[in-house]
Amino acid sequence: MEIGDIAAELGLPVDRVWGWGLSTSSGSAISKPTSVDEVARILTWASEHGVPVAFRGSGCSYGDASQNEGGIVLDATAFARIKSFDIDSGLLVAEPGVTLEQIWRRSVPMGWWPPVVSGTMYPTLGGLLSMNVHGKNNWQVGTIGSWVRSFRLLTVTSGELLCSPEENADLFYAAIGGFGMLGCFTEVTLQLKKIYSGCLDVEAIATPDLQHMISFFDTEKDNWDYLVGWVDCFPRGKRLGRGLVHAARYLAEGEDENPRESMSVDAQDLPMHLLGVVPKAVMWRFLKPFMNNFGMRAINAAKYHSGVFSQTRGRPHRQSHAAFAFLLDYVPDWKKAYGKGGLIQYQTFVPRERAHEVHPQLIALCHDAGMVPYLGVYKRHRPDSFLMTHAVDGFSFAMDFKVTAANRERLWQLTHRLDGVLADAGGRLYFAKDATMLAETAGRIWPAEVLGRFKALKERYDPDGLLQTNLSRRVFPEFTDGTAG
Ligand SMILES: Cc1cc2nc3c(=O)[nH]c(=O)nc-3n(C[C@H](O)[C@H](O)[C@H](O)COP(=O)(O)OP(=O)(O)OC[C@H]3O[C@@H](n4cnc5c(N)ncnc54)[C@H](O)[C@@H]3O)c2cc1C
Repeated sequence: MEIGDIAAELGLPVDRVWGWGLSTSSGSAISKPTSVDEVARILTWASEHGVPVAFRGSGCSYGDASQNEGGIVLDATAFARIKSFDIDSGLLVAEPGVTLEQIWRRSVPMGWWPPVVSGTMYPTLGGLLSMNVHGKNNWQVGTIGSWVRSFRLLTVTSGELLCSPEENADLFYAAIGGFGMLGCFTEVTLQLKKIYSGCLDVEAIATPDLQHMISFFDTEKDNWDYLVGWVDCFPRGKRLGRGLVHAARYLAEGEDENPRESMSVDAQDLPMHLLGVVPKAVMWRFLKPFMNNFGMRAINAAKYHSGVFSQTRGRPHRQSHAAFAFLLDYVPDWKKAYGKGGLIQYQTFVPRERAHEVHPQLIALCHDAGMVPYLGVYKRHRPDSFLMTHAVDGFSFAMDFKVTAANRERLWQLTHRLDGVLADAGGRLYFAKDATMLAETAGRIWPAEVLGRFKALKERYDPDGLLQTNLSRRVFPEFTDGTAG
């Protein structure tokens, strides 16, 4: 069925849907349900007409995870009420379109913080669960799925099911991290974390190369609640992978003299102006002239050297939870500074014993190909019980690449070379960041037994393959082969 006919029959607009990195887009009929009944109505209609449906939250996945060329995109951002929040237990019950921002604004003044957050506050619960998001504390507390007590999932074949580690457990462990393939999250019960201050104690430490950063993460990991490394990908040789680590810990009860003040929403809000004068909204325009190899080499070097100069090892400073967690939200729309072609992020998860060798090798391969990432971010992870998990007992390295019409094909080829190294090392990729993975890579990365179990659930809850995205068709065509669409 043509997209115009779908839209006309359902009374929906047709629009272009973009990946967050602005490097991929596709045309779809867009539905914005506000209730379970409305989601069910669209699914029933789509099922009767064999039209594929993709779910979408805030569209913060970098690539094509919530796009559906020629089909329906079911955007859950208006299905977004917090149903209840228990101030004593920290249990939140909410609809799938509720964002991290909505959650912390409600919970912080009562002394609770979302235990796992992404680097931006705009993702929705549905998106966070579907990707099983990790934070800068992944090795300590697991992914968001570890904090989900239960959820309701509207499936194509079996209606709305309550899932928890005790009830429909197979679906619980597969739909979390199941990239929207098994049903629509319609209600989520999430445990938040008790806090005694709106601030964290933060230290900044310079690391002269990637080996030092990895060693720091390994030896210091028990001393901190959060660790994140910024990596300058430009230098080679002895300074390869130099960077800055930011380490943070929660304050214990009584350490903050005025918790009521630090836990106010005002104290958490990010500033509207940078350096007190420049409105944040225009900042990305100032970055744009620097978004080339020359400019980014200079910015990365300046950041590293100023970090060496101002490091605070042993002298913690206080920073609000939101300021520490959502650094990437300081400059709204910074992705636009990358220009017309946008950016891709390539995040690799490598087992601990191989990271020392594999991550420097990936940087070297980028240099050899003449495409150096403009931003590198390092994190520590731990494995978990979710079926399609990306987390390993090891490290992740995320690299941001500028995409242009001239480099696009070469860049995709480069990521395929990196995929080979990663797969050989027992590493994983992450659907939330992916735009380039080939089906054969996915087949090497996820064990056949895992893919078999996921496929069996797909056949049980969506046998006609109604739920599809551009990503699922690219990476796992066997889940939806010869079905809807
Ligand atoms: C600046 C930035 C920083 C980030 N930092 C991190 C980070 O630190 N750690 C991390 O893990 N991720 C990070 N991310 C990635 C982001 O957290 C994930 O992509 C997340 O899934 C986005 O949520 P969303 O609401 O935007 O969902 P979308 O991107 O719109 O969709 C994501 C997936 O969820 C599915 N989905 C959406 N709603 C539902 C629903 N109701 N039911 C079923 N499936 C649904 C979609 O089909 C899709 O597969 C970052 C992204 C950005 C842009």
